[in-house]
Formats: sequence, C-alpha cells, structure tokens
Amino acid sequence: MKFKYDKPDARWRAELDPQAYRVMREGRTEARFSGQHCQPRAEGMYRCRGCHTPLFDTLAQVDADFGWPCFVEALDAHNLFEETEASYGMLRTELFCKGCGSHLGFIYEDDGPDSPVRFCVNSVALEFVARPG
Ligand SMILES: [Zn+2]
Repeated sequence: MKFKYDKPDARWRAELDPQAYRVMREGRTEARFSGQHCQPRAEGMYRCRGCHTPLFDTLAQVDADFGWPCFVEALDAHNLFEETEASYGMLRTELFCKGCGSHLGFIYEDDGPDSPVRFCVNSVALEFVARPG
C-alpha cells in the first residue's frame, strides 16, 4: 500500500520518540494507563502523530477505565484502514492511519448501547488539538 505521507525508516526514527516508534512503526502496544490521553478530555480532536491527519473527535471518546484512549467512532472513516491480524491465539482487527500507514491500535466489537465497536488507540500515536474558541 502506498501512503500520502510515506517516509523512510530513518526519518520515522528521527521524528518519533522511541516509544512512539515502537507502537506506530512496529505495532507494539503501550502499557495500560501509561498514555497521556486515556481520560476523555476538553473539546478538541486527536490527529495522527506521524502525519497530522485528523482521526478522532474528543466527543467520541469513552471509557476512562479502559487504560487506552477509546472511541466509539472515527472522525472520518476514510482516514483509517483496518487489517485482520492473528496473534496470541486470537483474531484482532488492527487499526492504521491511512495518511502514513502507522499502526494506531485495535478495533473491538462491543455490546454497549452507544456503538457496536470501540476504536482503542495508543496515546503515543495521537496528538491532541484543542478546538478553537
Ligand atoms: Zn498518520
């Protein structure tokens, strides 16, 4: 797959701190509750840390107790893509940024009242932008 904001690996290593690199470029997961965006917060949105593509609105953020930022819907589904991944003996739906191809997190099915899915994203893959005025 070709991405609008494709970068050579050396540039990713220079631009991202080691933890963000491990998550976004190697598909690892940050430790539960370690991220700075776990708690739903003031109004704004989250963009991809790798390419600044808008990904999630804070109004869609739920589940402060989950341990990772968790959203019931994407800002624009066209900015994301998913792939089914088999590991640890289970099938998981992996979530990526369509702008740069970075790993963001996973999508889980949910039987909650507000949405059939949860987008569970690593904090280090996100940058928060406050809504103007
Ligand atoms: Zn991106």
